[in-house]
Amino acid sequence: MLSNNPEFQDLLLLHGRDRRFGKLEEELKSLPDDITRIENKISTENKSIELAVSEWKELESKNNSLEKEILEISEKIAKSRVRQLEVKKNEEYQALESEISNMVVLRSEREDKQIEILIKIDDAKATAEIAQDKIVKRVNELGQQKQNLEDRITHARSELVRLNLEIESARKQVENVMLKTYDRVKKVVARAPYLAPLKDQKCSGCNLRVSNDVISTALVEQRLTQCDQCGRIVYIER
Ligand SMILES: [Zn+2]
Repeated sequence: MLSNNPEFQDLLLLHGRDRRFGKLEEELKSLPDDITRIENKISTENKSIELAVSEWKELESKNNSLEKEILEISEKIAKSRVRQLEVKKNEEYQALESEISNMVVLRSEREDKQIEILIKIDDAKATAEIAQDKIVKRVNELGQQKQNLEDRITHARSELVRLNLEIESARKQVENVMLKTYDRVKKVVARAPYLAPLKDQKCSGCNLRVSNDVISTALVEQRLTQCDQCGRIVYIER
């Protein structure tokens, strides 16, 4: 069997390393996008905290202006009451009285509104605090995921350097003609694998049936041969 041939096994070893190299390169290409996706998630989460907090703050400021308004109305009522004591004419007194009662109604409306707002503030505060707790946890998790990916990049880069050396030494082991064929196949075939075992007379690289010539070369002559459909080097496994 060709697959038992030590020279062919050298080629298989090279192929295995080339494939790992290719996979690592692909991973390194996609990792920065994965990191960007996580960064976007983190910023979305942070924005949702800001949103919850800003709703709460907005209610607080509504409450403050109501508070101020109520105070002003109360002052006006007090002033009108003082003036009531000073006026002589009954009509003037009555006019002030109706002014006061209007202001009392208005103040009571504002006070009701304030109670509503205060209840909303309690809810908004609770929501913001829960959101903050939850989101801070989530952001921490995402930060950890990002860190892992960054570590992965560092690791993959040094792995690539190491593999490159291993590939160089594996190439030196491979018999010259085989190596030339292999390099040619690598150029022609768009994607790994470049070596594919035959299964049921089919090339496992492209899944198409190979010709009888190819089978007989691989099986009987035990020579290096290529799939006549995709060009990959095909062989018969033990
Ligand atoms: Zn094929």
